[in-house]
Amino acid sequence: MQDPGPLAHVVAEKLGVSLERASQLLRSRSVRVLRYKDVTYVALRRDLHGHYEGTTILYHEPSGEAMLVEGYPHIQRILLLRVAVPRHFIDRVAVEEKMDGHNVRVVEFRGEIYAITRGGYICPYTTARMRRTYGPRLERLLGALPPGAVVAGEVVGMENPYTRFPYPEAPDWDYFIFDIFKAGLDPLPVEERRRLVDEHGLRNVPLHGVYDKEDVDSIAGVVRGLEEAGREGIVLKDPEYRVPPLKYTTSYINVNDVEVGMRFPFDEGHTFIFSRALREIFKAYEEGWDEERLREEYEALGRAIIEPALESVRRAARGERVVEEFTLTFHSLEELEEYISYAASLGVQAAVTRLDFDGRAYKAHLVKAKRSDSEIRRILRTGLSPLD
Ligand code: ATP
Ligand code: MG
Repeated sequence: MQDPGPLAHVVAEKLGVSLERASQLLRSRSVRVLRYKDVTYVALRRDLHGHYEGTTILYHEPSGEAMLVEGYPHIQRILLLRVAVPRHFIDRVAVEEKMDGHNVRVVEFRGEIYAITRGGYICPYTTARMRRTYGPRLERLLGALPPGAVVAGEVVGMENPYTRFPYPEAPDWDYFIFDIFKAGLDPLPVEERRRLVDEHGLRNVPLHGVYDKEDVDSIAGVVRGLEEAGREGIVLKDPEYRVPPLKYTTSYINVNDVEVGMRFPFDEGHTFIFSRALREIFKAYEEGWDEERLREEYEALGRAIIEPALESVRRAARGERVVEEFTLTFHSLEELEEYISYAASLGVQAAVTRLDFDGRAYKAHLVKAKRSDSEIRRILRTGLSPLD
């Protein structure tokens, strides 16, 4: 066999597989090989050899240094709080807020920090913004932990390319930490993690108390508060992570997800409907919603499904494009180009429609192409359903 090259050796070593298997993987669709500045990296696109999807292997060819960053584990969802909480937990439960943004793992590699998305990609925009906002603090935090440690948190606010949800405490862009892993996926206990984050001048996701697992009334009370505040939900964690975390969301966000998704029915929209309906059905059952509350739900969910999609159809009919619009801040044009070509390499067409410079930074208004645009256009042209 011809030598498959240094990257295959690195992948073989980091995944603990044969050289042959590593080079086969590198030619397959199970991984993506990308580059960010002088780092080549391999992102796993599915669970592989005991590693989660989104695991990534960073490699610096000139020095031969490499690092494996584990994928962020899936968190199981609760449908019935009163059944799941006492069954799953051991004694105490930390109720952390679930923030609605995008998952970012931060690691230090060769003296620099990198921001890695859920899929295992180094996002150039998030990395630049993370370095600028929290670089030295994160370096200090990671420096205080064993080599290979990973910080995980949610990037929230309106200035990111992925998930935008308004938070008064983070209008544009911020990072809220919810996990710190020592090497591998070994998490620091909740209290220790939160203290460390505080001590380094970083932000924790909010903690809404630690309760006895039988005290579901208090946990439900936290959810009610978040419901009224129009926030996403909670992640329940054993204070020592002896059992895996579970998540639960508000009715507010379940309906909101449908509404946001259905602007693009042929993209995320259609997959959102059943999962969110299921959450609402079991919430209505568990909470014993009365006729008035049910009527409110029928109206809200029906509206969330139809209204945004109808608006998109009307836009297309007027000759406007159905696109996702967002704003990002860049500190150089090179940074902007890096982001555009990164998105393109992942098959995402993002285009700048306006660029403003305020003497310090560039605000780029972008549009992302959506499949729904052409699907709706085709229906308007042919009058036929693409489904049946
Ligand atoms: P999955 O179902 O695989 O976990 P998903 O993209 O469907 O992924 P969500 O439904 O948003 O994810 O729930 C899990 C995600 O919630 C985590 O990956 C993380 O990004 C986010 N999250 C927000 N706040 C927290 C928190 N306090 N603790 C853990 N995760 C949190
Ligand atoms: Mg989320």
